Amino acid sequence: MNLTIDQLPEHCDVLVVGAGPAGSAAATLLARGGLDVVLVDQHAFPRDKVCGDGLIPDAHRALRRLGLLDEVMGQAQPVTHAGLISPRGIRVDVPGTLAVLPRRILDEIVCRGALRAGARMFAPLRFVAPLEEGGRVVGARLAHGEAERELRCGWVVLASGAQPQALIAAGMALRQQPSGVALRGYVRNEAMRGRIDKLEVVWHRAVAPGYGWIFPCRDAVFNVGVGAFTEHDLNLRALFEAFTRIYPAARELVAGGQWLAPPKGAPLRTSLTGARFSRPGLLVSGEAAGSTYAFTGEGIGKALETGMHAAEALLQARARAQDDAAVRADYEARLEALAPRFTLYERANWVNRHPWLADLVLWRGTRSERVRRRMSGVLDESSNPGQLLTAKGFYRLFTE
Ligand SMILES: Cc1cc2nc3c(=O)[nH]c(=O)nc-3n(C[C@H](O)[C@H](O)[C@H](O)COP(=O)(O)OP(=O)(O)OC[C@H]3O[C@@H](n4cnc5c(N)ncnc54)[C@H](O)[C@@H]3O)c2cc1C
Repeated sequence: MNLTIDQLPEHCDVLVVGAGPAGSAAATLLARGGLDVVLVDQHAFPRDKVCGDGLIPDAHRALRRLGLLDEVMGQAQPVTHAGLISPRGIRVDVPGTLAVLPRRILDEIVCRGALRAGARMFAPLRFVAPLEEGGRVVGARLAHGEAERELRCGWVVLASGAQPQALIAAGMALRQQPSGVALRGYVRNEAMRGRIDKLEVVWHRAVAPGYGWIFPCRDAVFNVGVGAFTEHDLNLRALFEAFTRIYPAARELVAGGQWLAPPKGAPLRTSLTGARFSRPGLLVSGEAAGSTYAFTGEGIGKALETGMHAAEALLQARARAQDDAAVRADYEARLEALAPRFTLYERANWVNRHPWLADLVLWRGTRSERVRRRMSGVLDESSNPGQLLTAKGFYRLFTE
């Protein structure tokens, strides 16, 4: 699937930088729309990506739109509930259409979908800098080791994830620092097979301002990690150790298990902040545009969605013979339409900073079917998490 720098053409319609969910989703729709698409990634595929590997309902919907849901679910561990656990050990199991699939497999499936649609993938190949003419991006300099080539194109879709280097090189970074950091490892533990079968998310003073998780993969393998959204420096490994100390299931999992991959950290960019969304000739998509949710750190679904928005904005402009300004206005409006949801997740991030709120909300969840239904609505995006943290939300919390 990985073509080499020597095979790179001199021109294409759209260059997509980054073959994660955002880039591959964009490349798929663009290629299906009849455009000549070059997809590049600095890593040869399949490649690993530090992630919790949890697929929440928005990811299921996006994968269905791409025609990939059956293939993904053929390899994923299906999960029926998120298990939310408060500092005092209050637990609410919230139903939802969920799954876990390591990113090495998921991203290869989505990338292969783009190739089946007609995109060409070149990797390892690194985006170095845009080519510019009269202030417009007209291509990119791409490198592998010492070798460097220029590729000219109509548009660049920058879907380079949470690492800021490509954003900075493209002149699109409004801030270099990530919004948060998280760390995860894979543990195999036969004794825990079937005992942890939900997406377990745990809040506790010892892991504030973050949370811990255990997500079950197939074959008695578990993705276990901690994450936090804060500007302050954090010792994630200390948080991880605290998590495996205070949460009995995490303690047992790690003590009796075998590390398949030791804990490894990565940045997150959230809340549609930290980057400009477009400039003439270039659209920024996925986590590079901050498309991951604060509070939960879920971002696969929204990365897929924003990648598809970038593709649709380009295809629509082509069909209507519109200019750069129209493409940018359309794309930015699509992202702005998602903004209120991100704002509410940002507000819900209070729970991470003040874990006693989780005690309160989950205690109510144990007592009210309607509160549990609203939590389920947060997962499937029919209700907003931030509403739980407004004056009205608090009122409803205690009256429903
Ligand atoms: C520890 C952790 C746990 C998480 N858990 C979850 C979870 O359970 N569920 C969930 O939905 N989300 C989770 N997320 C968030 C999720 O990982 C991101 O939202 C998602 O990966 C964003 O997809 P993307 O396509 O925008 O970027 P990425 O998946 O990061 O893909 C970007 C691609 O661009 C390539 N690239 C970067 N720079 C260049 C360059 N200069 N040239 C060429 N290629 C380049 C990279 O190699 C990479 O392949 C988690 C994140 C972390 C860090």
